[in-house]
Amino acid sequence: MNTQLLHPASDPEAIATAAELLRRGEIVGIPTETVYGLAADACNVDAVHRIFAAKGRPQDNPLIVHIADLEQMYDIAAVVPDEAKALAETYWPGPMTIILPKKEIIPMVTSGGLNTVGIRLPSHPIARAIIRAAGVPLAAPSANRSGRPSTTTAQHVMEDLDGKIAAVVDGGPCSVGVESTVISLCGPVPRLLRPGGISLEQLEAVLGDVTVDRALREKIDDTETVSAPGMKYRHYAPKAPVTVVFGSPEQSAAYISAQLGENSGVLCFDDCASHFAGHAVIETFGRSDDETEQAREVFDALRRFDTTDVAEIYAQCPPSTGIGLAVSNRIKKAAGFHVIDLTEGET
Ligand code: AMP
Ligand code: MG
Repeated sequence: MNTQLLHPASDPEAIATAAELLRRGEIVGIPTETVYGLAADACNVDAVHRIFAAKGRPQDNPLIVHIADLEQMYDIAAVVPDEAKALAETYWPGPMTIILPKKEIIPMVTSGGLNTVGIRLPSHPIARAIIRAAGVPLAAPSANRSGRPSTTTAQHVMEDLDGKIAAVVDGGPCSVGVESTVISLCGPVPRLLRPGGISLEQLEAVLGDVTVDRALREKIDDTETVSAPGMKYRHYAPKAPVTVVFGSPEQSAAYISAQLGENSGVLCFDDCASHFAGHAVIETFGRSDDETEQAREVFDALRRFDTTDVAEIYAQCPPSTGIGLAVSNRIKKAAGFHVIDLTEGET
């Protein structure tokens, strides 16, 4: 298959072309503010199957359904509690996915066999224009091959999926850079299933108590049942094994410097790079005091290691506050939760 690269900035037909492909049941890479999505008509079983095939995604890993207007939530959710309305009114359009009981219009293949559906209203103008023009809600997981770091540019999408999908719409680099926050409102207490662009603190400001799923902090066994099936799979990983070194930037830089061998790589803060110069392959992902920048850059930095021949990667990691919770979760997942915590024992 020849994958078309569409440029809405210079081609006035680009959005209509993408929408027409989607209506015909094709799959298309689209920009959103979080990461690039691999979109299909959420109600078209064959089209949704194509997403799983192109990504190599396990069938029990549900897809998020993207809408262009808040009212569309009522077309696909069987129940919309007051908390969902309050969250949607506060943080949509934006990087937050709400899990609710699903209506029948959403096929089981889209929800990974669950009776619930993840719904998101993205803020990216191109994403919303494509959903509107297609006239159907769009199922769209991250547009990467399953297991690899998510894609934050159209070029990343081409690296992973060229020849496997009908088109990619180039909307430039993503402004948030990590995937949406996933919050379930299906149980007695709201449950954070994945940290993302909307922080836990922001959710708590609207909801009060929020339970944080165990899978955010530790590795989940393949045989366990989890609330968000995606969380049990190896994710975001470059080819070389990753070790996270957690501590202050100075602490972790000193520790990592002492470990470096012949083919080591370091994923580090911009302001720590000089510690490793000449001793390792260095990929930086933003200043140590700017978690927003780290979120934008972390996947690109992880991907760049795959163009090198490093045999091991040491990674610095921000504290788990604000969007830092999402950044540290992605880095820890890339490491399969192999974490050396230098703060242990500190008071
Ligand atoms: P991705 O689209 O690659 O960002 O992955 C979407 C993730 O959202 C999945 O891996 C799940 O963890 C989560 N998710 C989507 N829909 C549901 C749902 N109905 N119930 C629980 N988690 C969901
Ligand atoms: Mg993904």
